[in-house]
Amino acid sequence: MNKGILGFIGLGNMGRPMATRLLNAGWDVIVYDLDEAAVQALVQGGAQPAQSVVDVANKASTVLLSLPNPAIVQTVAQELATGKLSKRVVDFSTIGPGAAVKVAEILGKNDCTYIDCPVSGGVPGATAGTLALMVSCPTALHEQLLPLLQILGKPIHVGEKPGQAQTAKLANNLLSAAAIAISSEAMAMAVKGGLDPRVMLEVINAGSGRNSATQDKFPRSILPGTFDYGFGTGLAYKDVRLCIDEAEQLGVPMVVGAAVREMLAITNSVYGADSDYTSICRVVESWAGVEIRG
Ligand code: NAD
Repeated sequence: MNKGILGFIGLGNMGRPMATRLLNAGWDVIVYDLDEAAVQALVQGGAQPAQSVVDVANKASTVLLSLPNPAIVQTVAQELATGKLSKRVVDFSTIGPGAAVKVAEILGKNDCTYIDCPVSGGVPGATAGTLALMVSCPTALHEQLLPLLQILGKPIHVGEKPGQAQTAKLANNLLSAAAIAISSEAMAMAVKGGLDPRVMLEVINAGSGRNSATQDKFPRSILPGTFDYGFGTGLAYKDVRLCIDEAEQLGVPMVVGAAVREMLAITNSVYGADSDYTSICRVVESWAGVEIRG
């Protein structure tokens, strides 16, 4: 891929480390975020600041997005579609398949191709370049983008059409949130029953109950009581809502999924959208009358 200038819009928990990796790999990156401090942090690392979304679209032929939700991505896409240079938009945001199709149409009117590319692996994966990148776009374009995407992690081409990668991502995130919820219940029972939480995690992670919550979220953010994994409750709630909506449209029952959505709704109302989604465990702890710390 031609090493032209890259645009990066959305420099939050995920966008910041991803843009930093691209800068460190020698790419020229022009960055934009509504939060001026987020822009300045990247400028310190060698990025050029942009004044607006349109400024990015006038200076970069490939624009990368890491934005919170479908409505914001659609608004930004409308602005990008007026840009002079932008020809490809790689979207790392989780917005659901319906919104991905709409965004592809908006950009397509200006001869700009949408690459649906949600990611998994959280802030640790974004920092280490070990994200799973689910990509749906024409095969030739995927191959062209590989040198760029491989700086961020492992690209997996899931299909040719926008929205297919979003479907993959929603399925993954349902499992990620479900793992925290059910592991919290199991751990609360074990700890209240007198077991050491560290020993319990050792047992689960050597046994058939192991999952991404017991292997990563509990040791990193729950046992220390920091609840700072780096993924907002509001964003996780959005993802699981999008997942259940999609399943409903497809006629797929999600009985357990609906329970996970309710756990996130409660966490969102008790601890707020800006809390970390590992706070699901705090809800279980308060109901069980036990803290899982070690
Ligand atoms: P975040 O809230 O930390 O960051 C979003 C950034 O977008 C913020 O800096 C915000 O100021 C900026 N922004 C909002 N509206 C904007 C606009 N109109 N123009 C420019 N900038 C704007 O969110 P995040 O955790 O980095 O997640 C970003 C996306 O990645 C979401 O879709 C999320 O679901 C997905 N995701 C997050 C994680 C995670 O672990 N945090 C993992 C995988 C995927």
